[in-house]
Amino acid sequence: MALVSLTQVLSACLTQHRAVAGVVVLGWEDALAYVQAAEAEGCPLILQAGPGARAHTPLPVLGAMFRTLAERARVPVVAHLDHGESLAVCAEAIACGFTSVMYDGSALPLDENIARTGEVVAMAHGLGVSVEGELGFVGYTAGVGRSGAPSLGTDPAEVARFAAQTGVDALAISVGNSHLMTEVGAQIDWPRLHAIQVAAPALPLVLHGGSGLDHALRAKLAGETNVCKFNIGTELRQAFGAALRDSLARDPARFDRIQILRDTIDPVAQATRRALRSLGPAPQ
Ligand SMILES: [Zn+2]
Repeated sequence: MALVSLTQVLSACLTQHRAVAGVVVLGWEDALAYVQAAEAEGCPLILQAGPGARAHTPLPVLGAMFRTLAERARVPVVAHLDHGESLAVCAEAIACGFTSVMYDGSALPLDENIARTGEVVAMAHGLGVSVEGELGFVGYTAGVGRSGAPSLGTDPAEVARFAAQTGVDALAISVGNSHLMTEVGAQIDWPRLHAIQVAAPALPLVLHGGSGLDHALRAKLAGETNVCKFNIGTELRQAFGAALRDSLARDPARFDRIQILRDTIDPVAQATRRALRSLGPAPQ
């Protein structure tokens, strides 16, 4: 159908009480499964290339893959750079055809985060590309070879200034959510979330660490708050890993990569459909 920007898919979410999934892509099979799921559910989709994917596969390859999938999809698809660490990587992503970039200045002091994010916005908006910023810090759950980095909740007192001075199209916030959660159980800090919304009522909000939020909680957030984008990675990577193990166990003599990996597509698509249905009704 169309390759679109983040703004194009998020603009309707605030009024339609739903959210869009930003799904973490690691390779061709999961990306294909995500698009098939979005087509089956009739909803837009955000394909995301994060630091892990970029360390494994060159950004131009990911950009070409996202664009190819988007152009052939029957639903709107955003090609999004997740956790861009510099203006340079955001510029490279835009040159590779990404329609949306996240600049992550969350570890910087506020003034520097505002200045750097504003530079990315000025560059990206001139090229029709959307920008997601982050205020506060969404931490990382310990495990799988990682040591946890604690979250720092988004300060509602900083939100209006950050939004006005950067011009971001979406804002990632820290309100109890955490990256890399392998089980649901994150507790949302509702007073903090409501104060953030009051400070910037027209700004779509983003929750990273969607896998730590159970599906009913996601539905409540999508329906009742300004959270318009949930990043969802771990629960879909778990579906991929389980499907891959099943595929190998079913036939120990298998060695062909395409035969093995093809069996992961349908299970990942089914898991993605369940995740998409947790984000509210499909657009009208
Ligand atoms: Zn994240």
